[in-house]
Amino acid sequence: MELWFTEKHTPNVKFSIKVDKQLYSGKSEFQRIDVFDSCEFGRILVLDGYLMLTEKDEFIYHEMITHVPMAVMPHAQNILIIGGGDGGTAREILRYNYVKNIDLVDIDELVAEVCREYLPQTAKSLDDPRVICHFEDGLKYIRHHENEYDLIIVDSTDPFGPGEGLFTKEFYGNCFKALKKDGIMVNQHESPFYPADSYAMQRAHKRIFDSFPISRIYQAHIPTYPSGHWLFGFASKKYHPILDANWEKWRALKIKTRYYNPKLHAGSFALPSYVEEIVREVE
Ligand code: SAM
Repeated sequence: MELWFTEKHTPNVKFSIKVDKQLYSGKSEFQRIDVFDSCEFGRILVLDGYLMLTEKDEFIYHEMITHVPMAVMPHAQNILIIGGGDGGTAREILRYNYVKNIDLVDIDELVAEVCREYLPQTAKSLDDPRVICHFEDGLKYIRHHENEYDLIIVDSTDPFGPGEGLFTKEFYGNCFKALKKDGIMVNQHESPFYPADSYAMQRAHKRIFDSFPISRIYQAHIPTYPSGHWLFGFASKKYHPILDANWEKWRALKIKTRYYNPKLHAGSFALPSYVEEIVREVE
């Protein structure tokens, strides 16, 4: 008998991965949490039926959401990660030895516990002394911080359920306030391909564009996300994501990556014409 994990990408499109077995299934007060083991993608974390990460391709997402801003921000020492309870984003940031503090704010402590148990390749970072976990709503946390962070990474679920508040004007405005005068905010920015995802991306971009002087979008190919074409938002008070990137300094750090590199960093901001149109409509 075959077992498959299936995610509905649209009412008419399903994406399935054959699984060997289900390792965990549970429910927190916020969401259902499942972990599967598959031959193609290794272990898979699923929240409320939506694929969050797989062992095989998580490096793409976690490298792109971290090394792009870190190659631009010359001295990031105090970092805020909102969401990211699987630890993958924190793992990549910890590779910069000059980073002093990472506040990781995830609403659901059970996600961190389950990932510690079943996904140590990302969750091992949660126990690093530089990482301070706060298990609370990021929308509330950010209201009480001002002029504090060099970089904020919004590594959230999608704009519904517990993650909905992390796509609002109020939230982006508070992220702006919580950043230092040359701070950068990067967020997982959904996808341009399917209508519902594209609408969510456009709405988020409008709210970020209205909150930051510099607001750009970049992309990566993530095989297990809807359409495989995934976007990230880069919002900044001062730095341009390409003109102010310091790739000499970044290369000198000798951080070994499997997806990110300086040429790809620059190229990832060159969007397809149809995506540019969607974005320009709200600028
Ligand atoms: N890093 C993974 C990836 O590769 O896309 C997925 C992101 S991570 C699992 C998403 C996290 O956002 C979840 O752990 C979820 O609990 C958290 N989250 C959702 N809503 C939140 C909120 N309002 N405040 C803080 N964390 C939230």
